[in-house]
Amino acid sequence: MLVKPAQVMVVTPHPDDAEFGVAGTVARWVQEQKEVIYVVCTNGDKGTSDINIKPEELAKTREEEQLAAARLLGVREVIFLRHPDQGLENTPEFRKELVRLIRMYRPETVVTADPYRRYVWHRDHRITGQTVLDAVFPCARDHLAYPELLEEGLQPHKVNEILFWASEDSNYRVDITATFDLKLAALSCHKSQVGDHLSPELEKRLRNWAETMAQGEDFKLAEAFHQVEILW
Ligand SMILES: [Zn+2]
Repeated sequence: MLVKPAQVMVVTPHPDDAEFGVAGTVARWVQEQKEVIYVVCTNGDKGTSDINIKPEELAKTREEEQLAAARLLGVREVIFLRHPDQGLENTPEFRKELVRLIRMYRPETVVTADPYRRYVWHRDHRITGQTVLDAVFPCARDHLAYPELLEEGLQPHKVNEILFWASEDSNYRVDITATFDLKLAALSCHKSQVGDHLSPELEKRLRNWAETMAQGEDFKLAEAFHQVEILW
């Protein structure tokens, strides 16, 4: 049950969200010798407009795409929870799955989707963000939350910070100027989502977005997050 700790745990609702949200930062962390792991909550089997593709085929393809992207970025390990796409709920069982992983891998930083984006926001993104927040605080910290995990030898763990991507209220920026191309390459692995080649339009949109996020900084391209420090 005990594994080598990882400094960063990225919890992504679907395969590909992490690449959009945090891949440039992940590439940077890996270059700084940080150990990064991915947790993929759903199997992504509804993420297509192709009426000919079967859900189970899509899920398999998306796992392969996620593994390829993670490999390219230098992510140490990818854990697939394989919940149904569009089927997440913030239940005690889902929280426990995340608490178990947090206590096993003992990350300093957890990264996920901002649950508090308003109005149109994929429910899996909203629910993943909320459940991760609840799992980090207070469940992973408190030994009486899920006492059966303690009996398995999983000690409580206090995460230092959560970074939420796609936030409408970002307060934390990371310079990804040097790793932006790696982010594009990682995104290109998700062919079922972005096509065989990243379109010039999408690439331009991502570059413009990264430039906007870096405004006022002394670097060119950024990923932005809402950072929450866990002080208690
Ligand atoms: Zn998604």
